[in-house]
Amino acid sequence: MSSAARSRRNPLATPAALDRLVERRDDEVWLAERTRADDARFLVLDTEQRVLAARDGARLELLTAVQRARLLPEARPCLLGAADGLHYFFLGADAGAATALAESLDARWAGLRELGMNLDPLGAGLCAYAKGLAHWQAATRHCGRCGAPLTLLAAGHRGACGSCGALHFPRTDPAVIVIVEHDGACLLGRQAGWPEKRYSTLAGFVEPGETLEQAVRREVAEEAGVEVLDCDYHSSQPWPFPGSLMLGFTATAAGRDIRLADGELEDARWFTAAEIVAALRAGELGLSPSISVSYRLIEHWLAGRGVDLAAELAALPS
Ligand SMILES: [Zn+2]
Repeated sequence: MSSAARSRRNPLATPAALDRLVERRDDEVWLAERTRADDARFLVLDTEQRVLAARDGARLELLTAVQRARLLPEARPCLLGAADGLHYFFLGADAGAATALAESLDARWAGLRELGMNLDPLGAGLCAYAKGLAHWQAATRHCGRCGAPLTLLAAGHRGACGSCGALHFPRTDPAVIVIVEHDGACLLGRQAGWPEKRYSTLAGFVEPGETLEQAVRREVAEEAGVEVLDCDYHSSQPWPFPGSLMLGFTATAAGRDIRLADGELEDARWFTAAEIVAALRAGELGLSPSISVSYRLIEHWLAGRGVDLAAELAALPS
């Protein structure tokens, strides 16, 4: 499978069916028409970047143009794109509007981590896309060059400084995440604040002046004291918690010695595939949620050793 095919399977990636309509972002006439049309759908985020969802959390509660005009007339729509014959936008709701909106639609506000795999691929991808863009907008209200307030243009995709003229574009922070293998075992670690028994692949932000592969080597050395010999790109997906792009890697290690060097992890261990299966069945190990690249990397590694992770988890008593 190619990395493109693997990335498409990652749940927070926007599906190929979504056309971002980049060429329409500055077309004010077109935008005004489309936001009033029957085929417009509005995803709504509150100030904590939770999304308006159906009570059962199984789908997004999207507003039609008529509902938007009645319930959120002041919010400025940001264009996400078009898919399956509909045009998608997102709106921000302040705290007062958010409460009223949920009540009038008998809906609720939910985080993307919670909704996660319950959403269909388009819903999950749109959510991650809108959340990342909303985070950038909220965090970039002022010009980084001169400090003056920014005006949002391009249907929410560009900030312009009215004082010095600088343009600001949505940012995404690259982070690497890696499953490291040595002689039939993989390296997983846990941070102190995580749910009990949760172990995950190692991850960290890419620093200026660094390649992705160098970031993999440095993070694994810093966190676990393990030397990475080589690594290969696996897949990527947006990780809007709050604004990252997660880049997954597989790697091989020079040896098994672990030294928790920088204090980020409270434990790190080598697990064989059989040990992972036994620990899952015994309730002694929890993995990252299936929306994560960590899950995908562990699934990929186990599949290479004849273990179907999804089937293993489905067979566990709930
Ligand atoms: Zn400025």
